[in-house]
Amino acid sequence: MTENKYADTFRHKGLRKKLVESIRLKGIRDENVLKAIEAVPRHLFFDSGFLEFAYEDKAFPIGAGQTISQPYTVAFQTELLQIKRGDKVLEIGTGSGYQASILYQMGAKVFSIERQRLLFTKAKEQLPQMGFAIKTFFGDGYKGLPAFAPFDKIIVTAGAPYVPEALTNQLKPGGILVIPLDEGDSQLMTSIRKLPDSTLITTQHGRFRFVPLLGDKSHD
Ligand code: SAH
Repeated sequence: MTENKYADTFRHKGLRKKLVESIRLKGIRDENVLKAIEAVPRHLFFDSGFLEFAYEDKAFPIGAGQTISQPYTVAFQTELLQIKRGDKVLEIGTGSGYQASILYQMGAKVFSIERQRLLFTKAKEQLPQMGFAIKTFFGDGYKGLPAFAPFDKIIVTAGAPYVPEALTNQLKPGGILVIPLDEGDSQLMTSIRKLPDSTLITTQHGRFRFVPLLGDKSHD
């Protein structure tokens, strides 16, 4: 019998519980974020040869020179977004689709953009099979997704050299944009809230490491 790639065994569930406890100890407080991490089988986002790495609190290569973010980083960014059921959320950098699935699990309507064709195609095919109804798009995240704007929340999962204006423009009044901003070899986690009068309030939340948010595809 061939092993079912989408099996979520007792052992996987146990490893996730441990992962959640370690993330809680590192300071994540939002119970809905922790519940989502406990619920979403992170190992499904790994190629079968690397399953043993899925429940370590570490980033991991997913092909095309990209990485699935560290679970603590996913939890940290998601906590900053203050997700409420029904929120319309835009993600820049689909990658493996794991962060998008956490948002979906929390009841958000998720739109996600990826610029690497290979990763986009894989996520578009696999996410529905895993039960995550995420709207995936191939394109340049610097432009956002004007046809579906405005969004309650926007999350950028790659290190950006600056805040793309398209993204703040596509945020609803009262909305939140979470974006790691370049500062040499690490990024400053930044949360930007748009007030009802459209004033932007910025807060900073420590340093993280991300792959870069890239521009035009012709520079690959
Ligand atoms: N959120 C992902 C982690 C992604 S790593 C996950 O949960 O697995 C960052 C991703 O951003 C990479 O897949 C990279 O290809 C993508 N990316 C980089 N620049 C981009 C851009 N301008 N537009 C869209 N995606 C981009």
